[in-house]
Order: sequence, then structure tokens, then C-alpha cells
Amino acid sequence: MRVGIGYDSHRFDVGRPLVLGGVTIPDTPGLLGHSDADAVCHALADAILGAAALGDIGRHFPDTDPAWAGADSVHLMRIAHDLVRRSGWTLNQADVTVIAEVPRLAPHVEAMRARLAEALEVDPGAISIKGKTNEGMGSIGRGEGIAVIAIVTLTVV
Ligand code: MG
Repeated sequence: MRVGIGYDSHRFDVGRPLVLGGVTIPDTPGLLGHSDADAVCHALADAILGAAALGDIGRHFPDTDPAWAGADSVHLMRIAHDLVRRSGWTLNQADVTVIAEVPRLAPHVEAMRARLAEALEVDPGAISIKGKTNEGMGSIGRGEGIAVIAIVTLTVV
């Protein structure tokens, strides 16, 4: 078995839609980024790549490459998982913590789990998503953006 951790953060940008875990969440500012800025998928992709010691999404999908401008990050995550599978490992389960003052995550968690599970070809029961606020502390607490921590385990294909 392998264990991997991923972290990502993005600043809010009122001009963009908010996409987290492949789900568009209404009535909240979006996130600034080269792709769709889906911090959940970015943290998960980094955790999956990290568990297989295959680098990170910055290496595989550089933000200087116009090919990834506005990219669907579920697709990036799936490509990362495919790379990892070709190296002999596959996702076993994932546990994700989203740290943000807004939005309230609970109404969207089941849709995110379903979307991620489908993309990663695991049972939704293998994907955990938890929302936390930062209790008003620091940049996240001031509502400047969103941070995500993901931990995954991989098993042999
Ligand atoms: Mg990111």
C-alpha cells in the first residue's frame, strides 16, 4: 500500500464560477487559476501522484501551458490517476478536507463524492469529503480563498 498527501489553495475571484470536486456551486465567488481552479481535484491529483512518487500536477500540467487554460480539473485528475495506474498502483480511498468560510459544503458533498468516485472509478464509499471553516483566522478566515488537504491510499492494480 502507498499513502499520499496533497494540498492546494486558490484565491476567490468573483468573475468566475465556483467548481469544487467537479461540482459547480452557485451563489459563491469562483476561484482564480489557470484551469477551472478546482482545488479539490488539484489536491486529490497531487495526493495520488505523490503516493506513487510521480511528481505533482505542476510538473504534468504546467500553468504556463495554454493547453490547460480553463481546463476541467476532473479531467486532469483522471489523467494523473491513469499515469499512476500505468505505474502499477490504483486509488483505494481518499479523505479530503476543504477549509473555507464559504460556501457551506454539506449540501454539495454527496454530488462531489459521486462525481469524484465516477472519475476515479471507485465506490462513492471510498471518497470522504469534509468541510471546515478556519474560525475567522488568517487569510482563509477573512474569506480570501479556499484551501484543501487530501490524503489517499493506493493499492496494487
Ligand atoms: Mg490548484
